[in-house]
Amino acid sequence: MKPLLPTSTAGSLPKPSWLAQPETLWSPWKLEGDELTDGKHDALRVSLHEQHQAGVDIVSDGEQTRQHFVTTFIEHLSGVDFENRKTVKIRDRYDASVPTVVGPVSRQKPVFVADAKFLRTQTDKPIKWALPGPMTMIDTLYDDHYKSREKLAWEFAKILNQEAKELEAAGVDIIQFDEPAFNVFFDDVNDWGIKCLERAIEGLKCETAVHICYGYGIKANTDWKKTLGTEWRQYEEVFPKLQKSNIDIISLECHNSRVPIELLELVRGKKVMVGAIDVATDAIETPEEVANTLRKALEFVDADKLYPCTNCGMAPLARDVASGKLKALSEGAEIVRNELANR
Ligand SMILES: [Zn+2]
Repeated sequence: MKPLLPTSTAGSLPKPSWLAQPETLWSPWKLEGDELTDGKHDALRVSLHEQHQAGVDIVSDGEQTRQHFVTTFIEHLSGVDFENRKTVKIRDRYDASVPTVVGPVSRQKPVFVADAKFLRTQTDKPIKWALPGPMTMIDTLYDDHYKSREKLAWEFAKILNQEAKELEAAGVDIIQFDEPAFNVFFDDVNDWGIKCLERAIEGLKCETAVHICYGYGIKANTDWKKTLGTEWRQYEEVFPKLQKSNIDIISLECHNSRVPIELLELVRGKKVMVGAIDVATDAIETPEEVANTLRKALEFVDADKLYPCTNCGMAPLARDVASGKLKALSEGAEIVRNELANR
């Protein structure tokens, strides 16, 4: 049984400095071979311990075994050539050198299932596991085979579904798909993006979530945010259709963002992971600030459907900053839980 206002994170947490360069995205591993395998598992244990200590209710692997939330999954697939790279604009925002799709994509073997099984043996708490969403995957590649964003996304959706079913069998309670691309390509989202997402969750009995955010606190994202004006209304474009979809949980950015809080009304009836922690600043929220964000969200989300969360992953943050933020999240949720109990 989950408590009222169960806390969780969007997914990634900082890695220990002996495993990878801290405060860096796509940080190279510092270990190799068996040492790397052991190191990743040890880091997962540490990350889980920190979540337990902070009182996080729905725990994750902190993404300790992956270098990047999209690329690591794609590396395990066939049909993608990592040597053959092209420069593309990711999410219409920044140039990146990306691998090329050169043939039919397929998953030869499970990607994260062994890691999920390991996490399951380490905790009795509910587990959430994050996978990249189909649309965000295609946005991180150059396609020289399907020549259709929709076709490639559909193929990825089928692959994600295979992985998700095995994660469910491994004991994962919530499978989350990260779709920051949903905040950019609105027509595609409504035409086929949500359809692909529903293909990815087909037949699952565990809970499913989609995480839609304004990205990690890296410069390309913070610069982009400056161009978005005083009100960020991106969610307005995709929430009406998501509200009607089979997805159980919507994970979104809230605290310190310019998202008008009343947009949450558009997904009324869904469970909502409300971002009450800003991942783009080192300033650690006070529990009262977290509580304030949650109180505002409660005007549009029923209490039994509100899941306090972080705005996005915390991989690029310093470890002490991230653990301070986790603690604030738990304490802020506890303040509001008490208020609800005394109503
Ligand atoms: Zn995010």
